[in-house]
Amino acid sequence: MTGSIVLFGPPGAGKGTQAGRIVSLTGKPQVSTGDMLRAAVKAGSPMGLAAKEYMDAGLLVPDEVIIGLIEERLQQDDASSGVLFDGFPRTIPQAESLEQIADVTSVISIEVPDEAIVNRIVGRRMDPETGEIYHIIFNPAPAEIADRLIQRKDDTEVTVRARLAAFHEQTAPLAQWYADRNLLVTVDGNNDIEIVASEIQEALKSL
Ligand code: AMP
Repeated sequence: MTGSIVLFGPPGAGKGTQAGRIVSLTGKPQVSTGDMLRAAVKAGSPMGLAAKEYMDAGLLVPDEVIIGLIEERLQQDDASSGVLFDGFPRTIPQAESLEQIADVTSVISIEVPDEAIVNRIVGRRMDPETGEIYHIIFNPAPAEIADRLIQRKDDTEVTVRARLAAFHEQTAPLAQWYADRNLLVTVDGNNDIEIVASEIQEALKSL
């Protein structure tokens, strides 16, 4: 399949987890603006420092910063037959810019109700060595790596509620925007990881 895929959904919908599966399935590289921003924060670049303020408050980073990051990323060789966008676009202006620079052939929306999101995010942990995502109850890590797991700074209940508000106000309207272009497929994300993965696989086959 040529062209790019967008994984769409609220924070904590399982985009990162499912992205790993889609990468193995399609060979397309994952382009996660959240991961790119966290790398910039860690590196202490001026852009990272500016982005950190928004991220810690659960707010969206300004469109021009994100669009600049994406333009640069898409120039790399591995992006030439399309990529898997995870957490991008998050606003209509971002989607409009993307339309100018990439061929999006499918948008997979992972739907999860707000009440489930808060439980998921507050218990979420990441393995800093592999980037693998776990949950203290729903998807526990193997005991031998449990000690090295970290919690994202913005995975607290207060910040999650701000991120959900940003999602509903700024990102959710994109579902209709992509539906109008016949690109949107919806899967029920309030399910077992494996069930969601197989629904996504079916959706990708039908596109
Ligand atoms: P994520 O890992 O996708 O949940 O992103 C973490 C945080 O990075 C978000 O809460 C935003 O502050 C910022 N961020 C990531 N992607 C975007 C984007 N496409 N547009 C604006 N802000 C973003």
